[in-house]
Amino acid sequence: MVSRRMFLSSAALAPFVAGAAGPTATGGGGGQRPVVVGSSNGLRAAELALERMKAGADPLDAVIAGVNLVEDDPKDMSVGYGGIPNEEGVVQLDACVMHGPSGRAGAVAALEGIKNPSRVAKAVMETTDHILLVGPGARRFAEMNGFPVENLLTDKARKVWLYWKQNLSAKDKWLEPDPSKLDPEVQEFIRDYGRDPFRDPRSHGTIHLSACDGRGDLAGCTSTSGLFFKMPGRVGDSSLIGAGCFVDNGLGAAGSTGRGEANILVSGGHLIVERIRAGRSPKDACLDALRRIAETTKEKRLLDERGRPAFPISFYAVSKSGAYGMAAMWSHRPSGKPSQFAVADAQGARLENAAYLYEGKPTI
Ligand code: ASP
Repeated sequence: MVSRRMFLSSAALAPFVAGAAGPTATGGGGGQRPVVVGSSNGLRAAELALERMKAGADPLDAVIAGVNLVEDDPKDMSVGYGGIPNEEGVVQLDACVMHGPSGRAGAVAALEGIKNPSRVAKAVMETTDHILLVGPGARRFAEMNGFPVENLLTDKARKVWLYWKQNLSAKDKWLEPDPSKLDPEVQEFIRDYGRDPFRDPRSHGTIHLSACDGRGDLAGCTSTSGLFFKMPGRVGDSSLIGAGCFVDNGLGAAGSTGRGEANILVSGGHLIVERIRAGRSPKDACLDALRRIAETTKEKRLLDERGRPAFPISFYAVSKSGAYGMAAMWSHRPSGKPSQFAVADAQGARLENAAYLYEGKPTI
């Protein structure tokens, strides 16, 4: 029988090849409007948001329409329907939206059973005096607003969760599955994410889009199922205005994906917009936020042997003039692929390589 260790060290984990970063990071963006910038899983989402703005849509409605594509897609297992559940096997979603022209924002956290948390966040913004609703209160609010309640746990996400659960401890009553007989969907998940959900349960993913329309009006939206197998009730940065998303209609919009706990501690979205106020380009402002995280992360368990944050985190930003940028802590993703981001503007929708602080890939 193949041991789990052998299995992990061979088939499951794609190797990282040093120096395979590809072309120099792009982004800096010349200041064309309209423009949308976002996480690499949001390529089609950015394209749709751009089309909507070109057709006259408000920038917030445009980015939410884009994000909805990914929330609805079970193949993206880090957002909305099909997202990886918490440690009890329950999908809990976080999202926030911010609208530049009105200066308003809305958010939901630990929302169960509603596949478009970004739309619920917008309803919080538009129809309440509050910014953030959580858990059962957020769910009740969504139901009162006519959002359908659905089972968000797909069979694939359930199998991945079960695999994690069965492997969790040799001391509980769950027996470890035979690694040579892994379910094909679990194998596919390990291949796609480049890491094993048991060996590396801290895996995550999110969609963020920031947009600037033809008039220079700004908006942002972030949506996620959060850290894989998180503790029930855990809320990351994606529902926190000022962290996972922030917009100042006179300056710019910014957002984040990656280790939410690190972003919350520096209020990354707000910090980036303030750096834009200080005259930094969106790309340099994103790098500034990463440097702040690198300076302030002290816990050894989060650092590599050279004292660098060992986790993935990325920032995305657009300025009022339409300049855009993105930066990642690491040049490569856990899978070994280059860190990239999505952009849509008059040149079309495309992925560009990230600016980054460190060459290599995150190890936690
Ligand atoms: N930022 C998200 C969170 O912490 C996860 C991610 O983007 O990977 O919930």
